[in-house]
Amino acid sequence: MKKSLLLVALVTLFAAQAFAGAHIVVVNLDPPGAGFNDPTAAAPIGGNPGTTKGQQALNVFQQAANIWGATLDSKVNINIDARFSPLTCTATGSVLGSAGAQDIWFDFPNAEFPGTWYQSALASKRAGIDLAAIDGLHDIGAQFNSRLATPDPACGNLTWYFGYDGNEGANQIDLLAVVLHEFGHGLGFATLVNKSTGAQAGGLPDIYEHYLADDSTSTPTSFLDMTNAQRAAAIINPLHVIWNGPKVDAAVTQVLTFGTPGLTVNSPSGIAGHYLVGSAAFGATIGSPTVTAALVLANDGVGVTSDACTPLPAGSMTGAIGVADRGTCTFAAKAKAMQDAGAIGALIVNNAAGSPPPGLGGADPTITIPVGSLTLTDGTAIKAQIGGGVNATLGVDLSLRAGADSAGHALLYAPNPVVGGSSTSHWDPIAFPNQLMEPAINGDLTHNVTPPFDMTLPLFREIGWYPDADLDLVADDNGDACLGSDLQASVIIGGNNSGVPNTLFTNGWTVKDFVNQCQAHATNRVSFNSRVAHLGDSLFSAGIITQAQKDALQSAAARAK
Ligand SMILES: [Zn+2]
Repeated sequence: MKKSLLLVALVTLFAAQAFAGAHIVVVNLDPPGAGFNDPTAAAPIGGNPGTTKGQQALNVFQQAANIWGATLDSKVNINIDARFSPLTCTATGSVLGSAGAQDIWFDFPNAEFPGTWYQSALASKRAGIDLAAIDGLHDIGAQFNSRLATPDPACGNLTWYFGYDGNEGANQIDLLAVVLHEFGHGLGFATLVNKSTGAQAGGLPDIYEHYLADDSTSTPTSFLDMTNAQRAAAIINPLHVIWNGPKVDAAVTQVLTFGTPGLTVNSPSGIAGHYLVGSAAFGATIGSPTVTAALVLANDGVGVTSDACTPLPAGSMTGAIGVADRGTCTFAAKAKAMQDAGAIGALIVNNAAGSPPPGLGGADPTITIPVGSLTLTDGTAIKAQIGGGVNATLGVDLSLRAGADSAGHALLYAPNPVVGGSSTSHWDPIAFPNQLMEPAINGDLTHNVTPPFDMTLPLFREIGWYPDADLDLVADDNGDACLGSDLQASVIIGGNNSGVPNTLFTNGWTVKDFVNQCQAHATNRVSFNSRVAHLGDSLFSAGIITQAQKDALQSAAARAK
């Protein structure tokens, strides 16, 4: 068994933007009086019965653990170290949390691919033993921003919402969605590839990378077949990094709707054509309604006059699609200013180079117009023509599913320039309906991680989180001929312990499962004993049990009530 220790780079999340299951243990690492131990009184909210802030936070984590635990199957406990820490805040975008595996393995028992890294929670599920414990580690480390405990202008006044019902208010962030997202990274929704150099961890691919490909070529090029330089180039190739696997491909058709947001400039002819737009977490969904109108550049008369951070002259955008530059105030504030001036749609031009245009985080339920973002390059070209009159349509391309390429593969987040740990370890934010594993958390997430709502579980199935309701390490959807295996260590018949090892066969049957079949098909005691005798003969002939064990099996059956 080969292995090596490596702390996986944390994947950060930005705001601004069966039966058996698995047992997920949340380990509270907060000091007394803070985070999970915050004694501040709080009224129960949205299904969360906690009566202190700390208790409510811990309840949310347990709720997330329960959702993942009910979705994934593992006979090994998944241990998650969790704490609240002061993370980066800005007025327009704050880090909500980060999480990653604390231990990774390759070439462990039952690995699907040789020489391939797996996060320890998944490796342990497949091996059937707690691999992280061998290293004295827990599987996942997760931290969440403690600065969102109370409103703070430095954090855009965002605060955590502790309800389970997704009913957060303006300026609140649904902690449950964020915890589900971060746990998702720790469970395997992340690549270990260096996002800047394209180098693989220790020169080996990871299981997530097995399914990453660039679709710029007629046949997608797998990340496994690329040089480091090629991987680094692909990671910053927007809308071309895909998940190339049959389970996610199938989920795309169940989950993602047709219609990719875009801006079509109708005139003047010099800039006519289709432009990518990033969608906003607030306002009407782009395309409902589709709006066609003249573009009007914001002019609030103060400082950078096109930033729309000061109320615009009344009626200055009536019937128009407003255009404002990013910076100084929140996306929502700009959109609201344009709406108040009469705009029927709004565009915010990025203030830094790069593509695709960013998703616009934030919240303001009073914004009812569709809002999108443009890249700096596109926005600059369009603004240069506004003085002479520009007519455009803000709507959707109905030939493409939002978040998939033209071949129906799900798109991963591949912005240029690269975004730290986030690139390729998320779906592209163009995905619609919004997905749990997009780089920014959206206010409309359902807490579902399965189709028809979400594609996270299909991705997990793809990387090896196979369904295994009876926890016999044989995939229920691929080879398990007995979905309810009796996994006791020795064969016990009617309370009589035969002492015969309850061998598990590669098809998912155990010796006891065969005995149970004997019982199911027997018409009476004599018939049952006879069937067990035949079973014992077969197992003995196959060299699976000894003569003495064969006798013990028959004896236990004969004594059974
Ligand atoms: Zn993330």
